[in-house]
Amino acid sequence: VGEFDLIGEVFATLACARLGHSELAIGDDCALLESLPVDERWAVSTDTLVSGTHFFPEVDPALLGYKALAVNLSDLAAMGARPRAFTLALTLPQVNPGWLRALAGGFDTLACEFDCELVGGDTTQGPLSLTITVFGACKHTKVLKRSAARLGDDIWVSGALGGAALALRQVHTGQAVEPPVRARLEKPKPQVRLGQALAGMAHAAIDVSDGFVQDLGHMMKASGLGAEVHWERIPLDPGLQHAEPAMQQACALAGGDDYELAFTAPPSLRQTIQDLAHPLQVGLSRVGQVIEKPGVRLLHSGLPMHIDRAGFDHFGGRGS
Ligand code: ADP
Ligand code: MG
Repeated sequence: VGEFDLIGEVFATLACARLGHSELAIGDDCALLESLPVDERWAVSTDTLVSGTHFFPEVDPALLGYKALAVNLSDLAAMGARPRAFTLALTLPQVNPGWLRALAGGFDTLACEFDCELVGGDTTQGPLSLTITVFGACKHTKVLKRSAARLGDDIWVSGALGGAALALRQVHTGQAVEPPVRARLEKPKPQVRLGQALAGMAHAAIDVSDGFVQDLGHMMKASGLGAEVHWERIPLDPGLQHAEPAMQQACALAGGDDYELAFTAPPSLRQTIQDLAHPLQVGLSRVGQVIEKPGVRLLHSGLPMHIDRAGFDHFGGRGS
């Protein structure tokens, strides 16, 4: 089997390559995407994973495939966009059919679950890396921009924080990792349905990829405002329940890789937002408010919080 027969065989035959959102998909020089209603726009995002930087070369290819698509879907979620299509650019040291099939199997189910069609890509030889570009649709009046937070908004976060960082630390220090904690690192669930439900309701949103405080800081900076966050309201991953406070803070506030959504919304919508939790099966915690003073101010029982800098620097300093 020639290399490109193989690419056709592995990728063109996937369930997620046949979702029907494109007139022309894998196999021609370009894919032709569907047109959108006049009030909608394409939301486009790209993320690259490089071997040795973002994953170990010996990583399970199925987990790699899953995570590469999951982190891209998370960016669509943070805009409130509806996934439609994606492309996959692969650089491989050599073509290994079994490895490629496992990689493809890793993202196929996730892509189908969120109705995101594989419409093309590129395959080249070189050091292992993987780039996915996602295309989503959103109503342009309802899109969740980082810059749209308003003074007095509530600050919310979905799910629980710190699980992925805890798993990473346990892996690095050779400790046993409980399966649910490991899953937080290896199989993060992009909050795509929540993002769409919040579109037109929340003001600003961002996905938590680099650490809650850092990502919240990005959103506040883009909005020209600041945040006040109550530590005791931060939803901690159950795996952190019995950890030292310094570890809880480092993982939940600076850890990253959780792919939860942080968003702001007017206090008048508190109940409406809380009512999304049950149907979407997602935790929603109101952790603070948008203030005028720039930066992120952390409070513990109403008092300025002392943060263990060492833990912060450890988690905050890694490349992403
Ligand atoms: P070109 O020479 O024009 O770059 P390729 O031989 O790279 O064409 O690709 C042929 C077809 O296979 C194209 O439709 C392309 O989108 C698709 N393709 C190539 N690599 C991948 C991949 N890794 N995943 C999905 N589709 C791919
Ligand atoms: Mg090519």
